[in-house]
Order: sequence, then structure tokens, then C-alpha cells
Amino acid sequence: MWRGGGRLCSGAAFGYRGDVGGQEVAHKGRRMRGRGERPARAVRSGSSARATRHVRAPPAAGDPPHGERTDRSMKISRIETFLAPPRWMFVRVETDEGVVGWGEPVVEGRAEPVRAAVEVLAEYLLGQDPARIEDHWQVMTKGGFYRGGPVLSSAVAGLDQALWDIKGKRHGVPVHQLLGGPVREKIRAYAWVGGDEPQAIRDAVTAQTEAGFTAVKMNGCGRMTPVATRAEVRACLLRAETAREVLGDERDFGLDFHGRVSPANARRLLPLLAEYAPMFVEEPVLCDYPHALPDLVNASSIPLALGERLFTRQEFLVPLQSGVAIVQPDISHAGGISELRRIAALAEAYGAQLAPHCPLGPVALAASLQVAFTTPNFLIQEQSIGIHYNQGAELLDYVADPEPFRFHGGSLLRTERPGLGVEVDEGAVRAADRRGHAWRNPVWRHEDGAFAEW
Ligand SMILES: [Mg+2]
Repeated sequence: MWRGGGRLCSGAAFGYRGDVGGQEVAHKGRRMRGRGERPARAVRSGSSARATRHVRAPPAAGDPPHGERTDRSMKISRIETFLAPPRWMFVRVETDEGVVGWGEPVVEGRAEPVRAAVEVLAEYLLGQDPARIEDHWQVMTKGGFYRGGPVLSSAVAGLDQALWDIKGKRHGVPVHQLLGGPVREKIRAYAWVGGDEPQAIRDAVTAQTEAGFTAVKMNGCGRMTPVATRAEVRACLLRAETAREVLGDERDFGLDFHGRVSPANARRLLPLLAEYAPMFVEEPVLCDYPHALPDLVNASSIPLALGERLFTRQEFLVPLQSGVAIVQPDISHAGGISELRRIAALAEAYGAQLAPHCPLGPVALAASLQVAFTTPNFLIQEQSIGIHYNQGAELLDYVADPEPFRFHGGSLLRTERPGLGVEVDEGAVRAADRRGHAWRNPVWRHEDGAFAEW
């Protein structure tokens, strides 16, 4: 029997009232009543589509509908989502024992459908024991018959992070201890540099090295025609040359093609870039062209990296078989902590390295670090502090204590803080949600008006 009680959630301030234990939920003047009806799956707070969403536990109704439950186990009692600038979303999972877990379920530019997917999954999770993470992962990813894709995988990812956070907090240990313990004491990270002109790149790389970073990443090009001009090729090479001049031989740079480069252009560029020895070239082509990967792997000595637009271990199999050297799953897109560690293990079987994609907020970064501390074949971590996307809000705006994100020589240090190791500033998150966001990526076009990859 569910024991979550009938406390009003904070959403009452926005017009929500619900007596969960009493089988009644009132919302916007309508009343749903009665045993056997659908639980209060989505409560929009007022008329704004940006408002905080709450999904609370359904009323107890005899035998539990899902799996085994006992009155001794902790129960998930409330799930809320928050849109937070610049382009993120947080999920807060509360239990009847007061332990709260946080996650970041989001697809940048498609936050709203991910929020809706979280609400659907919350119908299943409410009233469940949060400790059964793997069983919940199986049901959430496979239980709806249709599976996969960025929206569902990202919704699962954020909820999975929150469940691991709860488990760690409940046991008083960091998640990486639950995953087998640490294999390293610090996590090397890279910083983003923007700019298109050589002097802007030179200044940005210099600033990051002076901040202590030992590696940076930048875009390899802007919009590029499908068969590049010599000028476009030279502009790409000049970026790499400039970065290498500033960095010297002891520091690294990654070059992100961002899926903007056609297979033909990638085949041309990779051999020319090799003399600048980038640490990797990222998304050398779109994930639409896995059949092009073997040729690109053999086109130069540059390690190829990809994976931010792949969502399951199965989707990484062909790239790894093709010789991709570095996998870059995003912990908020690819099924969370549970799937990221499995992708890392798959990569290990191919001698490939893990470099998690993470241009997101503090919960996603903290979750990535937990995997990185326990993954033998971890290489380097992306992080968003100072990234050009962070307009109007920054990663540190949402944490009560910035210490876990203090860089030491370009690395983040291991701690024994429980759960994900991050203390979310709940007040800041709730305030951010009241502002909301509707971030969308730009749509680029070629000179002739045709669509161009961004
Ligand atoms: Mg990228």
C-alpha cells in the first residue's frame, strides 16, 4: 500500500491542489475521482506551457499494479520537471522517506516532448521502489513496445540519473562506489573555444590554457558546402593550425565537424588535418552515414569520435566495428548512467575510449563524472562552463555548492559526496522554471536557399 500521504506539493501556489491519499485530484476546475482511474499524470501549473509539471503517486488501490512491493521499501511519491535556461530541463524525484534524486532529461531544442515523455514514464514509476533501477530501466525503455529515439531515451536518461542519485544518498556513498569503486582520482576535462577568425581562436585558446585546461575543443568549420571550395578547406586547416600553435605539443585540441561535413569533404579534410595532430575529429560525418566510417577511419591517423546522437549500446556497435576510436554518448540522451556504463564496456571490447558528451547542466555533468570515476577506458569529459550556448544562465547558477565543479589544472577531483555528488539549488531551479525557455537551434541555409546542417 502506498504510504506517501496527502501533503500538498509546492505546485499548490500555482493553482494545483490534490489529495493523493484521498483519491481526488482537482486541476483547473475539473475533478477526477475514483479508484481505477488514471493517476494524475500531468498537472500544468496555470496556463503557461513553461510551468513546472508535477506527477504524484496514484491512490492506493489494492494490489500494486507493477512488480513486487512491500511496505518496508521506499516508494517514489512525486516527480516534477523544470525547464531551466539556457536550454536545459531538470527532473526531481521524491520518495516517501524524504530522499530526493535529481536528473537532467532533455534534448536540446526539444525539451517539451521530453517533458511529456517523463510524465508518461512517471505514471509507471510512482509508487515503485526506487532501488530497482535496472528493472525500471528495462520497463521504461522496452515496456511501451515502441522504443528508442532521442525523446524516450532522454526521458529515461534523466529518470535513471535521479534513481541512482537516490540510491547513493540512501546508502551515503557516491554512485561511483556503487558501480565498482573509483579507478582514478581526477577527471580531465576540456573547455570549449568559439570564434571563427584566427585571432579570435588564438585569444580563446590562450584564455583556456591560462585557466589551466590541458585540452580544448572547437568547431572545425561553419556552414560548409557539400563539395567544399578550396577556401573552405583552407579555413578549416587554419583553425587547426592556429590552435596547435597556441597549444604546443603538450596540450590537446578536439575538432568538432558537428555533422556539417559531407562524407566527401571529410575524406578530403582528414588527411590534410593530420599534420596538426588533433586529439580527435568529432562527428566527422552525420550518424546517418555509418557505412562511410570505415573509409574515414582509414583516411588518416586522426582518431575519430562520435556518439552524441546515438542512444543505445546497439547503435554504437557498427561505429565501433568500423574502427571509431572514441565514443561520446551523452548521459542525458543515451539512457543515463545505466546505459552509459554499458556503452563504455562495449567500447572497451574494441579498445575504444569513452569521452562523454555534456554541453548540459550540473546534474548531467555530475552523473557523467560518476561514470568516469569508475570507467577504465575513460578519456576526457566535456563540460559546458563558458560554452557559447549558455546565454542567460550558467551551470553554476543551479548548484548550492560549486566546489565539485572547481577545476584543478583542468581536472575535476573525486569526492565522497553521496549520490551524484552535486547539491542542486532547488530554489534557483524553481525560479528558473518560472522563466522557462523555448530554446531552438538555428536553421542554416546554403547560398541558394537549401537547408544546411547546423
Ligand atoms: Mg559535437
